[in-house]
Amino acid sequence: MREIRLHNTLTGKTEPFVPLHPGEVRIYTCGPTVYDYAHIGNFRTFIFQDVLRRFFEAQGYRVNQVMNLTDVDDRIIAKAAAAGVTIREYTEKYAQEFFADCKVLGLEPPERWVRATDHIDDMVELIGRLQKRSFTYSSDGSIYFRIAKFPGYGKLSKIDLTGIQAGARVDVDRYEKENARDFALWKAPKPGEHFWETRIGPGRPGWHIECSAMAMKYLGETLDIHSGGVDLAFPHHENEIAQSEAATGKPFVRYWLHAEHLLLESEKMSKSAGNFYTLRDLFAMGHKPSSLRFLLASVPYRRQLNFTMDGLQQAASSVERLRNFAQRLAEAKFPPAKRGEERAVQKLAERSAEEFDAGLADDLNTAQALAAVFELVREANIAMDRGELRQEDVAPAKAVLDKFERVFALIKDDDATRLAELGLGAAPDGPSDAEIEALVAQRQAARKRRDFTEADRIRQQLAESGILIEDTRDGGVRWRRK
Ligand SMILES: [Zn+2]
Repeated sequence: MREIRLHNTLTGKTEPFVPLHPGEVRIYTCGPTVYDYAHIGNFRTFIFQDVLRRFFEAQGYRVNQVMNLTDVDDRIIAKAAAAGVTIREYTEKYAQEFFADCKVLGLEPPERWVRATDHIDDMVELIGRLQKRSFTYSSDGSIYFRIAKFPGYGKLSKIDLTGIQAGARVDVDRYEKENARDFALWKAPKPGEHFWETRIGPGRPGWHIECSAMAMKYLGETLDIHSGGVDLAFPHHENEIAQSEAATGKPFVRYWLHAEHLLLESEKMSKSAGNFYTLRDLFAMGHKPSSLRFLLASVPYRRQLNFTMDGLQQAASSVERLRNFAQRLAEAKFPPAKRGEERAVQKLAERSAEEFDAGLADDLNTAQALAAVFELVREANIAMDRGELRQEDVAPAKAVLDKFERVFALIKDDDATRLAELGLGAAPDGPSDAEIEALVAQRQAARKRRDFTEADRIRQQLAESGILIEDTRDGGVRWRRK
């Protein structure tokens, strides 16, 4: 197996990945908090995780990924109480919308989706272990984790703990580094809010304990990879480490991976400032799922991604270029190589395949992987235009596209179907692929017998259904939907 190197936030270094169980990679990813639609900044992280798991699979690993849905936290409790509905009633809609969004962007589902509210017993059990080992204390019906008792506290986010008052507490789920405090594992019930009756008392879990309990339940006490957005490193992941390692005495996670922020037209995206887009916002403006997937995947995950409408347009034309190339390669006829002829495209294809894998193996450098593919597309297109592409070039070039497609999943043109599934736009109507092929063949036959009136009529008929056809230099024909 090729060596895959990943940047580990815990060590601050890019390290060779060695799985705990040979041939298998166990990944836990913090999923969305289902209190609203996810925005494109969230999907930047989810696309990174999708590229990660697809690349592991392409390299022959068995992937075991668990992703959670945070369906209980401060915001959900407050919103559900304000709406006068149960937590499940409030979150179900957003959970379903999230699944639909993942599907429209072509995200491979994880091996397991887990909901926090289905795992209250596991959280109670984990808190019980921490109580037994004296990492906790109670105050006003809530249970807190005593960070002074865990010497490793701060090792992930490298926070400076000097000057932090022993015994100072924080009750909210989200807070800044300056406010590092003993955090709530279990929160006392408040009037009008949902709570669970358990053996550690009535109440509800803090946000952080959710992920520790679910990750260890399904992936073991030590997992290979834990990933999320960079804003989760503190306090969420720092607290996950403290809770898990204090309970088990074992390292919780071997590689911590964090995706950088997405900026919107150079500004930090912010829900409160109204400065954000959901997927639906962009699709309603006429953008395609594939353009968004390309743009979000194209910038290596540890670099900030500046999302602009120009960038989205460019992404659309990049996808178009790839799709056209794949189609040209699939449909055109090429002559066999002459004896002793220089095989430049074949050699380039072999080099592109190698550079594609090498780029992704280098901490998922998607920019390098894409550059390798686009160099091949450019050179092979030139060779085709000059009539220099040979039969022998086709298989190595297709092999590069197959590699690309396995990880990036953009060549298959199913944008319209995906949008229709999301309830946006009409299902692709008009003729099926087979019907189009038949008409194209009829038109070819008409041209052969020099019945140009008939050929033009068929071209016109196809155009009216939104099908563009293009005659190629070698006498072939390509078609695509507008
Ligand atoms: Zn989490």
